[in-house]
Amino acid sequence: AQQTAKEYVQSVYETVINRNQGESEFFQAVKEILDSLIPVIEANPHYITHSILERITEPERVVSFRVPWVDDNGKPQVNRGFRVQFNSALGPYKGGLRFHPSVNASIIKFLGFEQIFKNSLTGQPIGGGKGGSDFDPKGKSDNEIMRFTQSFMTELYRYIGPDVDVPAGDIGVGAREIGYMFGQYKRIRSGNEAGVLTGKGLLYGGSLGRTEATGYGCVYFVNEMLQAQGLSFEGSTVVVSGSGNVSTYAIEKAQQLGAKIVACSDSNGYIFDPEGIDLALVKQLKEVERKRISEYVKSRPAATYTEGCEGIWSVPCDIALPCATQNEIDEQAAAMLVKNGVKAIGEGANMPSTLAAIDVFLNNGVLFGPAKAANAGGVAVSSLEMSQNSMRLSWTFEEVDAKLHQIMRNIYRNSVEAAEKYGHPGNLVVGANIAGFVKVADAMIAQGVV
Ligand code: GLU
Repeated sequence: AQQTAKEYVQSVYETVINRNQGESEFFQAVKEILDSLIPVIEANPHYITHSILERITEPERVVSFRVPWVDDNGKPQVNRGFRVQFNSALGPYKGGLRFHPSVNASIIKFLGFEQIFKNSLTGQPIGGGKGGSDFDPKGKSDNEIMRFTQSFMTELYRYIGPDVDVPAGDIGVGAREIGYMFGQYKRIRSGNEAGVLTGKGLLYGGSLGRTEATGYGCVYFVNEMLQAQGLSFEGSTVVVSGSGNVSTYAIEKAQQLGAKIVACSDSNGYIFDPEGIDLALVKQLKEVERKRISEYVKSRPAATYTEGCEGIWSVPCDIALPCATQNEIDEQAAAMLVKNGVKAIGEGANMPSTLAAIDVFLNNGVLFGPAKAANAGGVAVSSLEMSQNSMRLSWTFEEVDAKLHQIMRNIYRNSVEAAEKYGHPGNLVVGANIAGFVKVADAMIAQGVV
């Protein structure tokens, strides 16, 4: 008897679980995607014949390496570095580097797996990868950051290149870290290969609009969801978790569209400001002074600080933009948001909602913009940075922003259409997963069993 699509997906789950023991985040990401692919596999059984799911869930290459460095007291330290080159069907591996103590093989694989489909959705010619280290940048001096990043690149350089694999930033990796890594890569390779990293500074090959792209793109995406229902950001109350690169520019764009942002957070706790977040102050504290968000309340008497991050989801809002980290919204937090009348969620972070939380949103008619669609603006503009590097010219901010806006509209439209075509109208989780998957799967089949 022929295997049904459901049985096929189930058999792939068993293989993935057996091969990746204990890697719960990776399995969560695989499950979220494969569950939604059942209708497309039913309609196209040749995906089973070609063993596409077995192939797509196994990374092309996983590199793990030692990163030795010397701290300010002269003591040698050792961290673990990773690069997962997950899928190159659509182009060079592309994806960020995360420096955070929680980083392990499971986290990097979940991020790399998501990246394949996100990058496909952007319409740009980029494959999926991800890397990072369990190094904790918190409290490190600038010199320690430099020594660590140089050591990290001294190992990573042999696996990357402008046409091979192009890393960028993620949590804990911003313009400063990219700058130090670019400098070290250049020393080792003795040539200026601008396109080897994205998110570079504007003085040496960076793109205007890259810094803003993930946050702006997320708001552009949510705006599309809202407009389709006759809603808008204008006059709405918004909660944005995080206070890093994604969060900051999501707040900025939402404010420009007339929203009031009442809360944001860092990994220690959250601030609530009933008068609306003073973004200049957040930027000064986080980007310039590299301080904790708790400092915010010192100069804003109406604002309050609460220790712990989960509480932010009990702040009533019309729109919630989780822009901090994975699994920051669990089932209870989702239920609380629904109870308080949330209308739309836009995932700025990667996999910020648990599978149970997503079900709560979808079952309660909340507009839900899944991460791989809603936060694809960052990597989309990274790809535009690669294009500019190849052409040796730079576009204006307005040109980049217009392209970003169009890319986010396309992602929205393609996701809506795929959801509709495969019998789940309005479900952007299914739509984004299918729209992202089909291109990668078809490219893999076209390129033979490799
Ligand atoms: N780390 C970002 C992401 O999750 C950006 C990756 C990139 O620009 O390559 O998509």
